[in-house]
Amino acid sequence: MADLAVVGSVALDSVTTPFGKVREVLGGSATYFSYAASFFTTVRLVATVGDDFPEEHLRLLKERGVDVTGLQTSRGRTFRWVGEYGFDLNEARTIDTQLNVFADFKPLLPSSLKKTPFLFLANIAPELQLDVLRQMERPQLTALDTMNFWIQGRREALLRVLAEVDVLLVNDGEARQLVKEPNLIKAAREILKLGPRTVVVKRGEYGAVMVSNGQFFFVPAYPLESVFDPTGAGDAFAGGFMGYIAAQGVVDQATVRRAIVYGSVMASFTVEDFSLNRLARLSTAEVERRYAGFQELVRVDL
Ligand code: AMP
Repeated sequence: MADLAVVGSVALDSVTTPFGKVREVLGGSATYFSYAASFFTTVRLVATVGDDFPEEHLRLLKERGVDVTGLQTSRGRTFRWVGEYGFDLNEARTIDTQLNVFADFKPLLPSSLKKTPFLFLANIAPELQLDVLRQMERPQLTALDTMNFWIQGRREALLRVLAEVDVLLVNDGEARQLVKEPNLIKAAREILKLGPRTVVVKRGEYGAVMVSNGQFFFVPAYPLESVFDPTGAGDAFAGGFMGYIAAQGVVDQATVRRAIVYGSVMASFTVEDFSLNRLARLSTAEVERRYAGFQELVRVDL
């Protein structure tokens, strides 16, 4: 049985950054997540695509051992997202979101999938996240990601699913927006009152901070000179984070801290190219080298 399940979007993205432009390339929260997590453990993907979804994208996921039995092909068009970044790469501007086949997707999880111990609810409609969560049989750890689109549009449903998960991963803008609190530390504390025991706030080029049980943990972002496209960084972060935890099978403080560093490692590779291009030519040895690089970055006593 696989260790880690994910529900989220599988998309065709059109993205413009100051460094280039791509049209209808492979993207989606569950795609980046499962590809990044596959470096650590087996992942089972729950999502839907339309009958226009290119076969080669499916092949890419299968080649990394991602279990796609929960990926349904529905009649209609695949989810599409159009986004843009200015020189401040920390903030994506959504130009268009077309839910398409996700608009009435009702996943029915096979019983083997329901027993998966680790579950990630990647960015998608909160009703769908809750539907999948409710079908699971007592997972060991559940984590959730979301974005401004759902915080604004589906707040009630989002609060319902948030009340039932262990970990929330969001970026700083979304954390502030969720609880209407400008101070990030206060915002994290407010989020903890909504349900999760742990909040991980991703801060783009400023790294990530975890707040849990009165504990704080900070990780910087890897100092990269070439960042081409930040799309998927948050999902790849979550993939490294959950993938590492699922591979260890335990959820203690030490494991969670290392998982945050592995999350940062996977995010740092993702932004080096468009779509999943950098991840597709990544090796485990490079992952481990960059993990060691992170430790060196924050070492105080020589
Ligand atoms: P990230 O940059 O990690 O926050 O996520 C980027 C991915 O999220 C893109 O590949 C998009 O296809 C996907 N995405 C954008 N908007 C949404 C949305 N409203 N629901 C689900 N996925 C989305």
